[in-house]
Amino acid sequence: MNDVPATTSDSGAWVESDEHSLTVGPDGPVLLQDAYLIEQMAQFNRERIPERQPHAKGSGAFGHFEVTDDVSAYTRAALFQPGTRTEVLARFSTVAGERGSPDTWRDPRGFALKFYTSQGNYDMVGNNTPVFFLRDPMKFQHFIRSQKRRADNNLRDHDMQWDFWTLSPESAHQVTWLMGDRGIPRTWRHMNGYTSHTYMWINGAGERYWVKYHFKTDQGIECFTQHEADQMAAVDTDFHTRDLFEHIRDGQFPSWTLHVQLMPFGDAAAYRFNPFDLTKVWPHGDYPLVRVGRLTLDRNPTDNHAEIEQAAFQPNNFVPGIGPSPDRMLLARLFSYADAHRHRIGANYQQLPVNAPVVPVHTYSKDGAMAYRKTSDPVYAPNSKGGPAADPELFGAAPSWHTDGDIVRTAYAGHAEDDDWGQAGTLVREVMDTDARDRLVDNVVGHLLDGVSEPVLQRAFAYWARIDAETGRRIEEGVRAKAGNGI
Ligand code: NDP
Repeated sequence: MNDVPATTSDSGAWVESDEHSLTVGPDGPVLLQDAYLIEQMAQFNRERIPERQPHAKGSGAFGHFEVTDDVSAYTRAALFQPGTRTEVLARFSTVAGERGSPDTWRDPRGFALKFYTSQGNYDMVGNNTPVFFLRDPMKFQHFIRSQKRRADNNLRDHDMQWDFWTLSPESAHQVTWLMGDRGIPRTWRHMNGYTSHTYMWINGAGERYWVKYHFKTDQGIECFTQHEADQMAAVDTDFHTRDLFEHIRDGQFPSWTLHVQLMPFGDAAAYRFNPFDLTKVWPHGDYPLVRVGRLTLDRNPTDNHAEIEQAAFQPNNFVPGIGPSPDRMLLARLFSYADAHRHRIGANYQQLPVNAPVVPVHTYSKDGAMAYRKTSDPVYAPNSKGGPAADPELFGAAPSWHTDGDIVRTAYAGHAEDDDWGQAGTLVREVMDTDARDRLVDNVVGHLLDGVSEPVLQRAFAYWARIDAETGRRIEEGVRAKAGNGI
């Protein structure tokens, strides 16, 4: 008898051997009737699910969010009421890399949270940057393709990346951020998280506010230089994954303090730039940070596939008191995340333990592949048979804004300071110090020298000159000096 559990098949029956297939004599053929062998081979062939497209490489942990301050004047969402503690799942990731790619590539980092609230799941699918490369979802697919791999040699290609960026001037702010120090966090514990998008908060009186979330790391910001990151990629592809897991295992729990910026609903129309433009921050001087609470991660997954790979974050998981804004990128993401999960995991992905809410589900969704939650009659609404009925009073004031106009395909319009370059220039001139600017120039020069050719190169010089004339000049000089007369 074993002193460990006896191996069973997936149907729970004891198996005869972990090591030997059923054969005709010691040297004879394997028999098809070895059901356990066939089950092992078949399951193995199906172990991988499609990786995320993008944000494939990542990991995460569980923890909790505790409200330390009183923001009840701005939202009636239960998870943000004073003293409330909510269980949370967090997942961090790179964007462009595949599942086995290095954690330390220069790339934005995903910062996805699932709050298991008393009003259902609330998800935030943020990044470690407060802005994004684009403001229109029509370009998102093209952007990601330009960051991934070429069709012919299946290699990533800086020429392709700069071709897209320089033809998309709205990328300037995020590209500046990416090429700066924060483009490679030292660990996931040492970076901030931002919703980037603007959302709506609604208080108990039905008053509306626009809101942006900032999770500031309590560990302090720490970054890798390009050289350090390259070395680490060679030594430990999974450095960030390992760092998070080992710190939590050893009781050193990382935390972040959540602050929000709040804009009164009526300010948006006349603000100097479109406050829903995902390529822009709201300057702190205009809308200061208001502290809300603390996020702490204190529990590692025990099954990375079940709890992280199959975790399904989706920004359309709202709870009463929180809603979307007119940010076009956000509105498109409200569709695309759930759609991706249906493809990647299956129609009933929300029934998996990691994705299921902690509150009872009374939905009319039913059946489908791998349905686990039982459906009971009646299966339709309205009904007079005691089935669930929507309660508008419980739902409360719905997120809404007035909109009226011709159906068009056009850029945002109507705000005096809607531009592509201004905030990128502020970041270079007013936030970075001399050393940080030097590193920015070095990083861009190195990136451009790695396979970027004319006419893209010339456009890249012009792009940086528009962000900051001096930085543009230094980048052009640096590339020309290192490339010789060939450029
Ligand atoms: P502030 O001086 O009030 O804020 C500057 C912000 O920049 C701080 O939040 C700081 O984060 C962050 N920061 C510091 N160094 C870097 C770096 N190398 N790369 C990226 N961010 C950095 O100014 P404003 O609010 O007027 O914003 C000025 C510029 O700062 C913006 O154009 C934007 O590029 C950048 N920024 C602004 C944020 C915002 O929400 N307003 C958020 C993040 C960046 P920390 O406090 O953690 O050091």
